[in-house]
Amino acid sequence: MSSPNFVVIGSGMAAYGAAYRLYAEGIAPQMFDKNTFHGGHTTSIKNEAGFIFDMGPHISYTKDPRIQEVFADSVDQRFETIQIYLNNYWRGHWPQHPVQLHMHGLPHDVVVKVISDFVEEKNAPERKVNNYADWLYASFGKTFAETFPMQYTKKYHLTSADNLSLDWLGPRIYRPSLEEVLLGALSPTAPHVHYVTHFRYPSDGGFMRYLTKFVPMGNLKLGHTLTSVNPNSRELTFSNGVVAKYDQLVSSVPLPDLIPMIKGAPANVVDAAKRLACSTCVLVNLGINRADISKAHMTYFYDEDMCFSRVGFPHMLSSENAPEGMGSIQAEVYFSSKYKPFTGKPEDWIEPVIRDLRRCGLLREEDEILTKQAILLKYANIIFDLERAEAVKTVHGYLDEIGICYAGRYGEWGYLWTDESFKSGEKAAERALSGALTGR
Ligand SMILES: Cc1cc2nc3c(=O)[nH]c(=O)nc-3n(C[C@H](O)[C@H](O)[C@H](O)COP(=O)(O)OP(=O)(O)OC[C@H]3O[C@@H](n4cnc5c(N)ncnc54)[C@H](O)[C@@H]3O)c2cc1C
Repeated sequence: MSSPNFVVIGSGMAAYGAAYRLYAEGIAPQMFDKNTFHGGHTTSIKNEAGFIFDMGPHISYTKDPRIQEVFADSVDQRFETIQIYLNNYWRGHWPQHPVQLHMHGLPHDVVVKVISDFVEEKNAPERKVNNYADWLYASFGKTFAETFPMQYTKKYHLTSADNLSLDWLGPRIYRPSLEEVLLGALSPTAPHVHYVTHFRYPSDGGFMRYLTKFVPMGNLKLGHTLTSVNPNSRELTFSNGVVAKYDQLVSSVPLPDLIPMIKGAPANVVDAAKRLACSTCVLVNLGINRADISKAHMTYFYDEDMCFSRVGFPHMLSSENAPEGMGSIQAEVYFSSKYKPFTGKPEDWIEPVIRDLRRCGLLREEDEILTKQAILLKYANIIFDLERAEAVKTVHGYLDEIGICYAGRYGEWGYLWTDESFKSGEKAAERALSGALTGR
């Protein structure tokens, strides 16, 4: 009997998680990726001027010691450990993150209203929490909820908080006590409570360097866009005409793209896949002739008239990310095909981003912009709207039935970080291995 043919679609964290797990069993899977480069969302690009930009700000803050070790080994222990500093921008103020604990310096009327609402909410009868908006009101009170997280939600998740579920929250948003809120309002220094305190980043080569040792674990063919999957004949067709057979398939292809490719996919599953919402991100990357742009690694922007939601500074992650003495800025502008479709070209956002960076003071008039580039990430963050859970259940149920092992952020359709996407790939490989054993 010939050994089963394992195929992995993708070459990002999930696909390499699968390859890593299969490799441990002595199997080097066939891998295909539509791009002409590997790494998916963990790719890093070095431009002609010597600046390195990741596909969106990428740092590793996994708390899983096994994954820490696997990633560290992949870069031969050459990584930086950095204490994180995050801040926020709101109407000319720069409070440290999270805002609810650092209101010192905000206008007094806002601080007073936030605190009185916070106290009122604590003393009110317990609120029934059906969605993210209810949770925000219950956690922070009306003024804070509506001024900060609800504004940010509209910019980052592209829908209103009452259309979001709660199953993505985890430790992401801190719920403070009254004492903590008061301390942060009265004192310019309050304790650090963010769920991330330190992070790691490869010393050179950008975040993509973390993939180094996984690459030889599979036989990867680039420039192969999967267009059709026949689960009966176990055949894959690619847009370049290549046809490949599989016995076991691990896919990290985004579900809304994968489902319509599957021959015989039932109408209710195709409909469910159409209901899945995701954000699309325009990344604007700028190289600047000075490094002292910000003291934060990342800033969150709440104001509606600022086009970006977040701005990061890649040169602060590794000195190799920019030529000596230079700095870099990466701004994220968000859209969603379901809630705020992207039209036009990514480059259309370069000038608006520069304008708003000047307005908030991150860029100075005299700054020289050495490089500017815009990139479109079609799939960015999963939007946990109220339709998601049911639609995901339908789609995953079908994929389980036909034996396709989905993996990663866009296969699981969840808020997965790189470590979780890698582990999701490992788990998918385990399902594939057990499928091979049972002949499924
Ligand atoms: C803006 C942003 C910032 C982030 N910041 C962080 C961070 O700081 N820290 C962190 O840990 N995580 C971060 N993440 C999350 C992280 O990027 C993901 O968890 C991880 O990269 C997902 O890996 P994946 O393999 O599941 O998906 P991907 O990396 O998207 O891989 C999927 C692969 O499948 C390929 N593919 C898709 N369709 C086809 C097709 N039809 N045919 C062939 N190939 C196909 C793609 O080309 C791609 O290579 C961030 C994500 C975003 C969007």
